[in-house]
Amino acid sequence: MKTIALRIDVDTYRGTGRGVPRLCEILKKHGVRGTFYFSVGPDNMGRHLWRLLKPSFLWKMLRTDAAGLYGPEIILMGTAWPGPKIGKRFRPVIRETMDAGHEIGFHAWDHHKAQAKLMSMSEAEMADEIDRGLAFLAGVTGGIVHTSAAPGWRTNARLLEVKMRYPFKYNSDCRGTHPFYPVVNGKRLEQLQIPVTLPTYDEALGRDGVNDANYNDHQIGLLTEERPNVLTIHAEAEGGKCAAMFDAYLDRVKALGYEIIPLGELARRVKDSAPDGEMELREFPGREGVLAVQK
Ligand SMILES: [Zn+2]
Repeated sequence: MKTIALRIDVDTYRGTGRGVPRLCEILKKHGVRGTFYFSVGPDNMGRHLWRLLKPSFLWKMLRTDAAGLYGPEIILMGTAWPGPKIGKRFRPVIRETMDAGHEIGFHAWDHHKAQAKLMSMSEAEMADEIDRGLAFLAGVTGGIVHTSAAPGWRTNARLLEVKMRYPFKYNSDCRGTHPFYPVVNGKRLEQLQIPVTLPTYDEALGRDGVNDANYNDHQIGLLTEERPNVLTIHAEAEGGKCAAMFDAYLDRVKALGYEIIPLGELARRVKDSAPDGEMELREFPGREGVLAVQK
């Protein structure tokens, strides 16, 4: 089994406006499709950066060249004025992504707020965040969005239960090794969970001697033929300064015989055979704070 399920996270205004079209071009060139998880409300990611201004974060900024990834305006976005509404401005980008055959998923209404607070929100607040995003995406796509991905892989049992009120067929809310049905409070939830199995660019870079020159070698070395691989790229990174590198990555994995599919296709293939499983919150290499990891 040589499969890579491709997930594209879109966190910011700039990533949507510039990164998504660029990635669509690259994917088209290679004849592959993926799942785009859009953030459609205000872009307050600047707040996120300021909030994290502490030594370990500064080190990460240096490792990953955040200004190069996100652009200089990200630093100000959402700090002095309300961030721009991403979806409203970039409806055509979302439409064109769908029309190109990619799967459209829900990432966040307010990515910054969700990443910082989603797990501590009340159920009503969690539902409000999802309501706004799904309503917007339904308006743009003219259909129901069947998948979601929690920002920053911050997920707990309550959020999984709130998601059950929505027509999601599968979600990608954690890190791990293989798709599973989450068991929460002794009950198996019927929304399949598809964990991300590979590191992201910002996690891998600068660790264990990984740099831009050997990044693709490192990523390809982590692929397995035992199980489906699930890769997350970011519109801000692989659709920006890492675009040529990602283009080369696709050349190489295709030459190695890997098939690249959207997460919905993987869900379809494994939904009848996926086991039950659990997730826990813990620290993760290359990330701030805790995130949800398959047990
Ligand atoms: Zn994100």
